[in-house]
Parts: sequence; structure tokens; C-alpha cells
Amino acid sequence: MNDSTLYLVKLGEISLKGLNRDFFEKRLKNNIKHKLKGYRTQVSKQKGRIFFEISNDCPKEIIERTFSTTFGVVGYSRCLRCEKDMEQIKETARLLIEDAPFSSGKGSFKSISKRADKQFPFTSYDIDCELGGVVLDTYPEMHVDVKNPDMIITCEIRDKAYLYTSAKPGPGGLPVSTAGKGMLLLSGGIDSPVAAYRMAQRGLKMECIYFHAYPYTSELALEKVKTLTSLLAPYLQGTRLHVVPFTEAQLWIKQHSPEDETTLMFRACMMKVANKLSLQQEGLCIVTGEAMSQVASQTLESLSFTDSMSDQVVMRPLVGMDKQEIMDLAKKIGTYETSILPYEDCCVIFSPRHPLVRPDKKTVTEHYHAMGIEALLDEAVTNTEVFDFGPDGQQRF
Ligand code: ATP
Ligand code: MG
Repeated sequence: MNDSTLYLVKLGEISLKGLNRDFFEKRLKNNIKHKLKGYRTQVSKQKGRIFFEISNDCPKEIIERTFSTTFGVVGYSRCLRCEKDMEQIKETARLLIEDAPFSSGKGSFKSISKRADKQFPFTSYDIDCELGGVVLDTYPEMHVDVKNPDMIITCEIRDKAYLYTSAKPGPGGLPVSTAGKGMLLLSGGIDSPVAAYRMAQRGLKMECIYFHAYPYTSELALEKVKTLTSLLAPYLQGTRLHVVPFTEAQLWIKQHSPEDETTLMFRACMMKVANKLSLQQEGLCIVTGEAMSQVASQTLESLSFTDSMSDQVVMRPLVGMDKQEIMDLAKKIGTYETSILPYEDCCVIFSPRHPLVRPDKKTVTEHYHAMGIEALLDEAVTNTEVFDFGPDGQQRF
């Protein structure tokens, strides 16, 4: 393909898949192509690698965003290809090091050569030495450091010779949709976006659900959740946000349950509604940002009660993490700054001063049924509004 740039994508866990490897690789290829829709892209697969040849009219930022947000990509790099001929390999290396990170001409480097084609008449060591020579000829101030180099130049001898410099990290994991679909309970807090990231990393496709108690929670709180959804959308390969009108249900709970049980009942109702929406959307699980013992509604007793409201698996990928770890990951994936904006979530506004910490499951289950809230929950499901977000993070109107 003329007017195009070649990228090499390194695969991690996918390479370990046995007979199913094809399924995972195909999904990864399709997920990447979907994000590059509108630009000519040719794909070729080789052991442990996928090569993407992308037309040059595709902006660099789109390419970077694509590879850095697509699960299954362990690392990626712009790559040059040439015939398996030592002179051509050296010439290609010269071209490659005109660009970053080598273009600074300073610091330490190492060359790594790999021969998938054992017929190639030079050993890996020979190629390493030749490449090292090219770098030192071009940049005499640089030096070799095999233990802790600032940058790396790699040459892989396959059907052709492929050369690239230090690969950038991808998010790893497994391609989204290889594990089916679930519904994420997305609040405006720090935890749930991180939970989404964690589950998407294991290949789960997700749609998001937000419980909105307008006017107790403001339009700004909804805007914040939309922003979080758009930040997550590239990782989720696009998603939908279901906004459930929750005011009536919350007021009903407030009136019809003991004060110390209200938070627990909110959560039970959220789980009920999530379960209904998940069935509608053909999801197979529910994902929350809960962590063991983080707050009263997240003790073992409370979780056991809210779990019983869903007949689907409830995934809590943060269950064993402490808050600092969660915050660090939120910063890394870029959701933290939005999550800490001050708009209150509905649970916070309606929450009792002394919530029940260790509920008796039988008692609270009886209290739940005594409230007679099912019709209100069905109405909330019917009146749910849906917003679509593309894999580019943009809301689709
Ligand atoms: P985060 O909301 O990110 O967890 P938090 O710890 O302040 O921050 P919690 O009250 O602990 O929030 O809520 C636990 C989990 O319940 C959330 O991670 C989320 O999955 C779900 N949740 C809470 N409130 C809502 C809401 N309004 N809409 C959807 N899901 C919610
Ligand atoms: Mg939380």
C-alpha cells in the first residue's frame, strides 16, 4: 500500500491462547479496524504480532489513541519493512533512527535481533552488531548499554525484515467483547470507571447505567457521568449510557423503609433495575465499583443482600483493592480529575447518618418486599433515557 505507515502490534496473553487464539486475534483486529474506520487499513498476522498498514491521511493522534486504548495490545510501534538483505536492513535502520527516540543523538541504546526465519545467513548477534554500528556511525555520542538502555532498536527477520524502535505500551489484557457483555453501574465517583476499565481489560463489553435523582442530583452530576462515559468509551469500544430516573423510587424508599436501611434499599433497587436492563440488552453480568468494607453498604452482609436482587453474576473487580490503588489507576486511565468534581451522587444526598452495617438478610429481604416498590422500578426502566458514545469517545446524536 503506497502512502501508508506500518505499525507493529505486540500481543501478550492472546499469544498464550491455544486453539482459541484465532478468535481473540480476529476480535482484536476488528476492534482496531473499527476505531480506524474511514481510513484504509491493511492487516497481516504473524506469530505473536499483528501488522497494521494505515493510510497516511489518518491523523497520528487517532492512531495513538487507537493502540493505547485497545485491550489486547501489549505494545505498539511504527515499523519499517525491507527485504532480508543486510545492506537494505542497515539502510532501513539509518532511516528509522532519524526519528524519535534516537533523533536526540544522545544516551544509551541496545539492538535486539530476532530470527523467525532461521535460513537467514546472519546470526542474531551479527545483526545486532551491524545495527549497533549504524547507530554509532550516525550518532557518535551514543553508547551501548545492554542492561538498562534508554532506547532500543529491534530487527525481526520474518517473511521480510521488520525494524522498529522502543515500543509504546498498550493496555494489555484481552480484546473487548471476547468475554460477552455486561452492565456497569456507573456513578460519578472514582471507583466505578476504574471497575469498567478492569473488566474491559478482561474482554467484557459493557453498557453503563446511571441512576439519576433529578432535581436532588443536578444536571451537572449527569453531565459529569456523561463525561466519564465518553472517557471510558474508547476503552469499551464505544458504549451506551442508560440514565434511569430514580427520584420517585428514592422518595418511596425514604418513606417506606427504616431510616438506617435506606442506603441498602437504594442499592437493592439499583441491582433490581440493572438486572432488568441487562436482560433487555442481552447482558450476562452486572459490574460495580464496590470494594470490600469500603462503606456500610459494602460489608459482606450488605453485599450478600444486594446480590440476591440479581439473578446475574455480579462482578466487583475492585473488591480486594484499597482506595489508594483505585485512585492511582483512575489517574492512569484519565478519569480521576472528572470523578473528583464536587457534584453529589444520589446515594450521598439521601444517605442516613447511621446506616445499618451488618444487616440480617432475612429481615431486610422482608422489608424490601413490604415496600411494594416493583411497579415504580418497572416505570423507571420504561422511562430510561439512552445516550450512545462511539469508540472515539464522542456522543452520537
Ligand atoms: P464510586 O461511585 O465510583 O464507587 P463511591 O465509592 O463514592 O464512588 P459508592 O457509594 O461506594 O460510590 O457506590 C458503590 C458502587 O455502586 C459504585 O461503584 C457504582 O458501581 C454503584 N453506584 C452508586 N451510585 C450509583 C448511581 N447513582 N448510578 C449508578 N451506579 C451507582
Ligand atoms: Mg465506592
